[in-house]
Amino acid sequence: MSNHIPVTQPFLPPREEYESLLADIWDRNWLTNNGPLVKRLEEELTDYLDVTHLSLVSNGTVALQIAMKALDLEGEIITTPFSYVATTSSIKWENYTPVFADIHPQTFNLDPAKIEDAVTTKTSAIIATHVYGNPCDIEGIRKVANKYNLKIIYDAAHCFGTKYNGQPIFNYGDISTSSFHATKLFHTVEGGALVTDNAALHNKINLMRNFGHDGLNNFTGVGINGKNSELHAAMGIVNLKYIDEVLARRKKLSRLYDDYLENVEVQKQAIQPNSSYNFCYYPVLFDSEQQTETVLTNLKEHNIQTRRYFYPLLSKLDYVTTNNSTPVAEKVSKRILCLPLYHELTEEDISRISEIIKEG
Ligand SMILES: *Cc1c(COP(=O)(O)O)cnc(C)c1O
Repeated sequence: MSNHIPVTQPFLPPREEYESLLADIWDRNWLTNNGPLVKRLEEELTDYLDVTHLSLVSNGTVALQIAMKALDLEGEIITTPFSYVATTSSIKWENYTPVFADIHPQTFNLDPAKIEDAVTTKTSAIIATHVYGNPCDIEGIRKVANKYNLKIIYDAAHCFGTKYNGQPIFNYGDISTSSFHATKLFHTVEGGALVTDNAALHNKINLMRNFGHDGLNNFTGVGINGKNSELHAAMGIVNLKYIDEVLARRKKLSRLYDDYLENVEVQKQAIQPNSSYNFCYYPVLFDSEQQTETVLTNLKEHNIQTRRYFYPLLSKLDYVTTNNSTPVAEKVSKRILCLPLYHELTEEDISRISEIIKEG
């Protein structure tokens, strides 16, 4: 049997570079609690992403939870059923009601008209995912939010390096959250961030991620432990040096897939105009669920892993009680496969994968 090809694999930088930062951590014996490497990574990310305020936290799920709390949401939150489970589970965890709106059949992102249909007197916010790093219809969503006085949180977990209208994608919405989990394009092993351009909100987020500590013996507001550590920050600092290489490699590999799959009847995600895409994933949409399962099985027999991502729809989770119908999302979710895509993937791998898909 040929070599196993996973669907994804974390990027690992040269070990010596990480070890040299570890040596500094040992010298300082300062492991967490907003240490020098956490501060340094926050500065470097703020700079690299060209954003106003960025708060590093322990993961992308806690980032979403803190975002909802910081914006004082209540009642219903309109969201997408086509995202990773954390987008909905965090809403439920915070005791809000997720209300699902349907997605656009080509971009796979929330459709603003469907968001508007889902608004009730109880709606307080929209949580939209930029699916696979593809920017949402930001103007459309903003219009609905303004009309009904709703907050906007963007789950930008897939968006490292994505721009829209020349602006970093993280600059849109009241808060954008991200995940720096090991499998993401940029990672700190575990980690995440909240980005906002509002200084007061930024201050509130920083209190919330640290138990509400306002000095040693003073507490302002309810908080949680959302801090990240020096060891995680060190991984981020080293990885950030390689991010342009990582982004370029993803683009190259995606173009290779495009070439190899040129004559195969699959639908690709339509990328939002005026945006620069980060080639985070390589999703393909097949004609039917049966074909999707056949391709998945064929590849698996050749030791190649693909992922039905996102499947099932989040509206099907057993703890979700609102069940508005989202037929487009349902169709897409049943027919989508993400093909292997990671830094060490080779052209031969892509050729092999494409041949197997072609044989159908
Ligand atoms: C990865 C991911 C998350 C969760 O991030 P964690 O850092 O793993 O908690 C949330 N939303 C989306 C869309 C994701 O892909």
